[in-house]
Amino acid sequence: MKIYKFGGASINSVERIKNTGNIIKDHSGQKLLLVISAMGKTTNALETVVNAYFENRKEDALKLFEQVKQHHLDTLKFLTVLHWHQAEKKLKDFFTEVEWMLHDKPVRPYDYYYDQIVCCGELLSSNMVCNYLIEEKVNATWVDVRDIVRTDNNFRDAGVDWAVTQQNIENDVLPLFQEFDVVVTQGFIGATDENESTTLGREGSDYSAAIFANQIQAESVTIWKDVDAIMNADPKQFKDAVKMPELSYHEVIEMAYYGAQVIHPKTIKPLQNKNIPLYVKSFLDPSLQGTVISNANVKNLPPVIVIKEKQVLIQFKSKDYSFVEDKPVAQLHEIFRRVKTKANLSQNTAISLLCCCDDHYEKIDKLAQEASTIFDVELERNLSLLTIRHYDEETIKKLAGDKTIVLEQKTINTIQMVLRG
Ligand code: ASP
Ligand code: MG
Repeated sequence: MKIYKFGGASINSVERIKNTGNIIKDHSGQKLLLVISAMGKTTNALETVVNAYFENRKEDALKLFEQVKQHHLDTLKFLTVLHWHQAEKKLKDFFTEVEWMLHDKPVRPYDYYYDQIVCCGELLSSNMVCNYLIEEKVNATWVDVRDIVRTDNNFRDAGVDWAVTQQNIENDVLPLFQEFDVVVTQGFIGATDENESTTLGREGSDYSAAIFANQIQAESVTIWKDVDAIMNADPKQFKDAVKMPELSYHEVIEMAYYGAQVIHPKTIKPLQNKNIPLYVKSFLDPSLQGTVISNANVKNLPPVIVIKEKQVLIQFKSKDYSFVEDKPVAQLHEIFRRVKTKANLSQNTAISLLCCCDDHYEKIDKLAQEASTIFDVELERNLSLLTIRHYDEETIKKLAGDKTIVLEQKTINTIQMVLRG
């Protein structure tokens, strides 16, 4: 069995959904599990609904949600005729689930509401895709992944309960393939044992595909994207970016760790553990080779470039010239954990610790404030973090030559530089 994951861009319009349908129809023979994300920028739109709701702006929240609803209903009209009625009914059920919530006042934490509302993006899109496939005479069925992927209640970054999930897949997903060729489900979301919806972190659909692949020992996973292949740098920033037709799990996990927006970082482990190859292919031109990620030992890679903008460098200096040792460092880690932030890079000196982080303003200010009880804290904002794997002097010069290097770290494979200017 194979798994196809379709991201938001591959289904963000009537044409794109039809194109996705063609890719699925072209895949004859084997059974297929489809993992679907929300349409286009729906998740962002739903985030604005959550924000309005949580700020007690109920009318705004309902209005913003109305836009999401209309967009889906308008799309559905062009996808289904015979099955329009049943499809519309299902979408309306999901709308109602959200609207009920929006009419109540928020009494629980933000992250809880986030997951209850945002999860509807995937429910809506996967339903439309499934009904379109059925309309096109594909022998397909739809599964609510919240009955399958069981998680803890760490809302917005839920952890998967692998044992229960495995049982659910065996009992409720695999038997469907006796009757159907294609099973359509959602990425990114799951549910707790109390039936509360959860999400696995932004862009988490790749990870969902990997969870299923791991549990059913899939032959392969294919992630359909709007890129020809994985490139060594963002082609929007670098005209001379090149495709990388073959990569190892290790390389991809490193790239994702350093911030390359290739694949959700959690995706690799479940695949590597079962040695399941991951293909990245273009839904715009499926004839292209794309990239295959596997255990293969891939040599001679070009320099792989990742740039993170909007970085802040935080210096935590001991107040009395004592060394920055275990205890204050442990306290600092605790503060990082509390404000849900992590360092992209850190470096110790005798009496200070330097951390480069994504500059989420509020979090960083809170972090600085809390840490100032233990350290003198200094911030420098508007920096960028450049990572080059398989670096060479020429690439370093090209990318950092005209900037001030505020901090540098180097291993045999990787150089990282915090840059000003
Ligand atoms: N729809 C979710 C997001 O935009 C999950 C995903 O796309 O993977 O983050
Ligand atoms: Mg996405």
